[in-house]
Amino acid sequence: MDMEKNMMIAVKIKEVRAQVAAWKKEGLTVGLVPTMGYLHEGHTSLVDKAVSLCDRVVASVFVNPTQFGPGEDLETYPRDFEHDCALLAAHGCDLVFHPDVAEMYGEEAATYVEILSEMPKQLCGKTRPIHFRGVCTVVSKLFNIVQPDKAFFGQKDAQQLAVIKKMVQDLSYGIEIIGCPIVREQDGLAKSSRNTYLNPEERKAALVLSKAIFLGEKLVSEGEKDAGKILTAMRERILQEPLARIDYVSAVNGVTMMPVDKIEGEVLVALAVYIGKTRLIDNFIVKG
Ligand code: AMP
Repeated sequence: MDMEKNMMIAVKIKEVRAQVAAWKKEGLTVGLVPTMGYLHEGHTSLVDKAVSLCDRVVASVFVNPTQFGPGEDLETYPRDFEHDCALLAAHGCDLVFHPDVAEMYGEEAATYVEILSEMPKQLCGKTRPIHFRGVCTVVSKLFNIVQPDKAFFGQKDAQQLAVIKKMVQDLSYGIEIIGCPIVREQDGLAKSSRNTYLNPEERKAALVLSKAIFLGEKLVSEGEKDAGKILTAMRERILQEPLARIDYVSAVNGVTMMPVDKIEGEVLVALAVYIGKTRLIDNFIVKG
């Protein structure tokens, strides 16, 4: 285990277990922030929240192969572990867990955690059918390894947050799941490790996602209750951008992720749009 500005770096599961056990023996609470690295202010906002609510904070940096489908960007996913460590240390993270794939899955892993309802098949699940099975499996493993009191996830990945909450409920994990607001660039684009794929022209075009989100929010704030009208206006806004190709623009129940026609109760309005080859997501929540 290495020390970096008092932050420990562990690559082995047993190192994490030993450190967390020592903290628990002292009666300290532990927060977990799972990430795939190439960190930005979206991630560090989760670390800040964890530091504010827990005595000790563990962040994981692991590009999880089981949540990538064939033809997705597993091989090209951006990585910069040194920079990640500098950011995490600066934000008060105590331990970064950075396992390799062999440490996490071994040679013969054959067990998955999968939600069998419609929830993971909606929204991103339509184009990424194995994605949430991979997410649930890796997060479940991280929960078992770290055994945190609280775990922190971004609202940016709203369906992921809903899926994790469902998994925690169904599998009786005694872990509090804390959702944190979307952090955006100054011009509105939601921060994402994948924004690095965008060339300057695409970076400009990508603004259409947040523009559509803000338009949808405005219509809701003006009292529009018809989800279809809101989604149509958002789609029309996106189609004004020639580099954009819509995957989905949808309104769903904020807990179940099933489509809704009316803005009633907690509703998630979410979209996924390709800008060139890069698939980006964004959303807003209407609280009932
Ligand atoms: P990732 O590294 O993309 O798997 O993200 C790790 C965690 O950071 C997830 O819980 C994400 O939802 C969260 N996250 C990523 N981008 C943002 C953002 N712009 N604002 C808030 N949270 C984010």
